[in-house]
Amino acid sequence: MAKRSGYNFMKKDAAFVFSEEQLNYSFSDTHPFNQKRILLTLDLLRKSGAISETDIIAPRIATDEELLLAHDGKFIDIVKKAGKGEVSEELGAVYGIGTEDTPIFPNMHEASALLVGGTLTAVDEVMEGRAKYALNLGGGLHHGFSGRASGFCVYNDSSVAIKYVQKKYNARVLYIDTDAHHGDGVQWSFYDDPEVCTLSIHETGRYLFPGTGTITERGNGKGYGTSFNFPIDAFTEDESFLNTYKTAIAEVAAFFKPDVILTQNGADAHYFDPLTHLYGTMEIYKEIPRIARQIADQYCEGRWIAVGGGGYDIWRVVPRAWAHIWFAMNDKPAPTGPLPKDWLTTWEKESLVPLIPTWEDPNPLYKPIPRKAEITDKNAQMLSKALHMIRNEQKNK
Ligand SMILES: [Zn+2]
Repeated sequence: MAKRSGYNFMKKDAAFVFSEEQLNYSFSDTHPFNQKRILLTLDLLRKSGAISETDIIAPRIATDEELLLAHDGKFIDIVKKAGKGEVSEELGAVYGIGTEDTPIFPNMHEASALLVGGTLTAVDEVMEGRAKYALNLGGGLHHGFSGRASGFCVYNDSSVAIKYVQKKYNARVLYIDTDAHHGDGVQWSFYDDPEVCTLSIHETGRYLFPGTGTITERGNGKGYGTSFNFPIDAFTEDESFLNTYKTAIAEVAAFFKPDVILTQNGADAHYFDPLTHLYGTMEIYKEIPRIARQIADQYCEGRWIAVGGGGYDIWRVVPRAWAHIWFAMNDKPAPTGPLPKDWLTTWEKESLVPLIPTWEDPNPLYKPIPRKAEITDKNAQMLSKALHMIRNEQKNK
């Protein structure tokens, strides 16, 4: 991989990529994908005294040349035209836009390219050594395909960013996706590429979009063996989720030995999330980034870029969950106790549900699940089957 500059004396622990324009990625006022969660998170960090204005850097807009690293030119043209109202419903549908999930909105190309540019900004901060870690909560659009939008995602910032890291920095990327949905778009982008490793832990696709992400999706051709999936059962709780995640990431990182990691931090595996069926609590969101950071420190001299993703309870879940990424990046202990009072008073008027007033979730958050043992056991079997497959392949190499 490319050698980094020796100028480390100005290096920050972490950079937070943000501008208000990231909120322009908006399908409608009633669509579940709502980027206001970025603002809610930043405001929570500010009111907690956990971020200074010098930590915040503005995203740039990705150029067409950069988008072309992972997307078809024809698709980019259609998105540009759609944002100007020049694409018919029939034509849009061919490219996955104008659908119920991913409606057309004004200037959708510019808004989507800015989210990609934010992830590229984060990449450059880390790879050029200005920050050890960087966070772009506007990114994480993991369902975007090379020639088609899907599942609320137009351009796939992670796919573009990984291609960009390969081209500009010649580094091996491990992509880790903890969104409740399978990270299909990123997986398919690198399915043939042995120099990129993708790992996704998600609710099984049996009843959940996009339906893919089984343990047998292992890559193709030269890329066989660098795609990993850990599908967990609906109603999975913290302990089983974290056990699967920790074991999987340790195994895969030791196998692949990445130069840099990119994590997608969808916050939709929480019990409150309206779109999925997992039973996570704030406990998993406290642990996920700390484990990622430990892997980055162990294998990558720290190089870790984190992006956002899903997360549809924007009031009770996402701000606290995403704040934990920033605390982990800054090596601060996870906060406990009450949230800042002025954050609660600012937002409680707007929220349709009562806000959770503490960093922790109420305990217990839900009634005990009668099938707990069965679900835990099923996840353990899936994990051991997946690991067995991985180890067997390595032995036979
Ligand atoms: Zn999701």
